[in-house]
Amino acid sequence: MNIASLLTQATAAHPDNTAIVQGDYRLSYLKFEARVNRLANALQQRGVRTHDHIALWMTNGPQMLEAMFAAFKLGAGLVPINFRLHPHEIAYIIENSQASTLFTTEEFDKSVPDIRDLIPDVQHFITTGPTSKESHNYESLLEEEEESFSDVDVHPDDVAWLFYTSGTTGRPKGAMLTHQNLWGMTDRFYLDICPNFSDAEVVLHAAPLSHGSGLYALPNIGKAATHVFLESTSFDPQIALETIAAQNVTNLFAAPAMIKRFVDCPTIDQTDTSSLQALIWGGAPMLVEDLQQAIVKFPNMVQIYGLGETPMTITYLPSCDHVLEGSEQQIKRLGSAGICRSEVEVAIVDDKDGFLATGEKGEIVTRSEVMTKGYWRDPEATAITLRNGWLHTGDIGYFDEDGYLFLMDRSKDLIISGGENIYPREIEEILAQHPAVKEVAVIGVPNSDWGEAIKAVVARNQGHQVTEDELIGYCKSRLASYKKPKSVDFVAALPRNNYGKILKRELRAPYWQDRDRHI
Ligand code: AMP
Repeated sequence: MNIASLLTQATAAHPDNTAIVQGDYRLSYLKFEARVNRLANALQQRGVRTHDHIALWMTNGPQMLEAMFAAFKLGAGLVPINFRLHPHEIAYIIENSQASTLFTTEEFDKSVPDIRDLIPDVQHFITTGPTSKESHNYESLLEEEEESFSDVDVHPDDVAWLFYTSGTTGRPKGAMLTHQNLWGMTDRFYLDICPNFSDAEVVLHAAPLSHGSGLYALPNIGKAATHVFLESTSFDPQIALETIAAQNVTNLFAAPAMIKRFVDCPTIDQTDTSSLQALIWGGAPMLVEDLQQAIVKFPNMVQIYGLGETPMTITYLPSCDHVLEGSEQQIKRLGSAGICRSEVEVAIVDDKDGFLATGEKGEIVTRSEVMTKGYWRDPEATAITLRNGWLHTGDIGYFDEDGYLFLMDRSKDLIISGGENIYPREIEEILAQHPAVKEVAVIGVPNSDWGEAIKAVVARNQGHQVTEDELIGYCKSRLASYKKPKSVDFVAALPRNNYGKILKRELRAPYWQDRDRHI
């Protein structure tokens, strides 16, 4: 069944529920779906067909959500793009996806002529702003269109979403997510993550719709939830907190970097966030120290671990495991990614794909219905990632005896120093406990004696002074000596992509110029 029927059925059941809120702008489900249908009709009439690809270079907002569902309804594959990428990176994704249609929000229109020659397959340009000789205006397209549309029949294996990897390790690749994958993701969300989800949900899209919050919109649409959008595209924690209070937001998805900004926001204690029944977090690791501070402020947290290739769905750490006090084991589990999701297999393998026992560290592999069928136009990468029928995550981890999965690091972030495998996260967890440390990333840098040496890159808390020697000494008193950093660099802030992931590749690059480490 077409994943668009999440919307069709929600509208049939709850036509008067509020679908959209942005400032004073509000739309009911009936009106929202009518706009989606008009858009689907407009696209179909202009020749956009089932299996075409539709790229979205848009900021969060009601029109982006409409475009997503219009694409689903048409049986076209959606290609949402991280709008903070450089226009040439965006052009790469559009060209690679062979999209026939490009939606832009107004602020990006000035860059389109610069990349026009790089995206020859695009035939339809649709903008929320004023038109040029090649483009159509979004709102004008909707005028005079029918308000009804029959969702196109799709095969469960048809591509619904081309999810471009965030490219922290190289050129982005388009993971093909099928209608079946998105159904599997949505069903398991209701089953494991929010079993009490009702038609009274209010979701705040504070994270990008092109990534976590877009996937997360699906189970919310299915329950006819209200989707609240902020008016600004840059994340302001104070405004987001005020919006939670003003709109009685019941659930939201946030990356760890956003949660840290919520916790550090000076107005958090004066803002009533008690409506929030579920703060779902994931997409990157959160250090235990940061998580504990967050739990104080947000008692209803659930962690999800997934990849674009297995959207939102490998393991989860339920709310009941987000504890501030408990046994040593319970506290340790705060540093885990939790337990396997329903009907999802997860295993740990060595570099020859042999299965490893409980406690042994290796690559995390998974298989389930919520698993990409491969990368678009990249059979080689598909064969490597999906070898032996398992999706290879590139993450290193281990299971404890109770089935909790501990993520160590991305395999490319592992440091090999003097023949020892060193997991940066272990050192980051220690340094994060130091009162002067605001943010930390640990990387390997070239060293003629050891192959790689451990370097910590630290952003200090305002008003705190701490020296390199003090931080190295701090680690030495808490970790095996060979794991202590050999050096510490201080920076104002760590580089992150707009999904909140620390760009370790970027941090490593200056040290590895002209060397052959795969940075
Ligand atoms: P993406 O495909 O862009 O969503 O990135 C997926 C990667 O993000 C995973 O392979 C992990 O390295 C990381 N990640 C996602 N969720 C978590 C989590 N809950 N804890 C730690 N890392 C995570």
